[in-house]
Amino acid sequence: MASAAPLLIGLYQLSNYQATLLHFTILEQKWQFRSPVGNCSSTAIGLSLCSRNASLLLTLLLKKSSVIFRRRLLKMWMLRCRLLGAHLLGTKDDVIGCFEYYADLAEGLDAKQKAPISLPMKTFKSYVIREPIGVVALIVPWNYPLLMATWKVAPALAAGCAAILKPSELASVTCLELGEVCREVDLPAGVLNILPGLGPEAGASLASHPHVDKISFTGSTVTAVKIMTAAAQRVKPVTLELGGKGPIVVFEDVDIDKAVEWTIFGCFYTNGQICSATSRLIVHESIAAEFLDRLVKWSENIKISDPLEEGCKLGPIVSSGQYEKVMNFISNAKGEGATILYGGNRPKHLKKGFFVEPTIITDVTTSMQIWREEVFGPVLCVKTFTTEEEAIELANDTHYGLGGAVVSKDRERCDRVSKLLQNGAVWVNCSQPCFCQAPFGGTKWSGFGRELGEWGLESYLSVKQVTEYV
Ligand code: NAD
Repeated sequence: MASAAPLLIGLYQLSNYQATLLHFTILEQKWQFRSPVGNCSSTAIGLSLCSRNASLLLTLLLKKSSVIFRRRLLKMWMLRCRLLGAHLLGTKDDVIGCFEYYADLAEGLDAKQKAPISLPMKTFKSYVIREPIGVVALIVPWNYPLLMATWKVAPALAAGCAAILKPSELASVTCLELGEVCREVDLPAGVLNILPGLGPEAGASLASHPHVDKISFTGSTVTAVKIMTAAAQRVKPVTLELGGKGPIVVFEDVDIDKAVEWTIFGCFYTNGQICSATSRLIVHESIAAEFLDRLVKWSENIKISDPLEEGCKLGPIVSSGQYEKVMNFISNAKGEGATILYGGNRPKHLKKGFFVEPTIITDVTTSMQIWREEVFGPVLCVKTFTTEEEAIELANDTHYGLGGAVVSKDRERCDRVSKLLQNGAVWVNCSQPCFCQAPFGGTKWSGFGRELGEWGLESYLSVKQVTEYV
């Protein structure tokens, strides 16, 4: 560890990080990381990692560490996650599963090194090396804060990258706990750095920093444009996981109760604060009346309360700002002539907190804001269709292309529609299931690049060919 000095040099070189120091100062006392040169605050590690020397040191360190070491590390980490418990992790099984999965993929990675390429000329020999891309900035949103972080941290570390994780200012604690887990399992100091702070300060500094080699961002499309613009100045690769306005297309042959259940789950799960929410119901006109009737009955039975209360199905919206945003969407929809079939208000029994009733909106036209823009709240808008072509046209009538669903008993029809939906993920007879083995990402304004699966790991690797004259 003699060459750890560059780690600290970086701290003094980076003036554009001054703004984030404030946020670090608040957290410094709690978040002491062990560094190769003794105890050192997260500020020092977080900032210093961005020096090129430090990044080389760290990626070398990880490259040199054996696969077994990496695997053991991830496994230990995972165990610790298990101990942390549901109150902290929320989706702890998904988090643990993701670390487990990438621990296995890391093991297979070395076998793929020096993979020979067959060439047409015998006088040349070629092979391929996969290398960690370098220092990666991982910027995540507030919804599923730990899971979104895990989708990036696990493959980035498995690939051998050093990472700076920037949690949302609205939900930093679970990511900071992740830092604590790393410290406890002796992840080499500086390999994973948690950089809490405001987006325009901490996030923007990372996006434009010359020594960050790649940015993986999950968040809104508006922020993505800023990040892409900054990254473009240094021709930096980006992976973008952005918003959505997903359709759920329900045909006339369905089991109505099951389809209603998936519709409710697809839109109201975690209060609709989910990028892949299927928040546009496109239902066949022949079953629409009955479908909506049952949808309302289901919605009436959703218990809205403090999330810690027994049986709670819908908690509050994340913040006052988001609450106002959701309420504005609802009142704009009314203003534009749509009908609030159910909900639309704060529940009467809850006087305080940012609670919104599950809301179903009908009489929607395709030009209305509620049809076109992502709400990120428990708001479902509804349109009917008569033909399959019309359903597909309505489903694709959006700038977004993240998740979409089709519900029908007709297998061939499901295949046809799945193929034609312009979405990165299509769910058949369900909505929202997500597995770390399967790629996840969007089309159009929902972003590009893929997380999860082998695709997720590849996105943190750079491919080098070596060709020799023999
Ligand atoms: P956001 O874009 O406001 O913030 C996301 C992250 O970016 C935060 O950490 C924030 O601090 C940071 N940030 C803000 N401004 C920045 C800047 N100028 N430069 C760099 N970083 C900056 O999004 P949000 O409100 O936290 O999250 C909600 C959005 O995330 C929704 O649009 C949702 O659809 C999307 N999302 C997408 C996925 C997916 O997998 N596709 C998953 C979850 C959430």
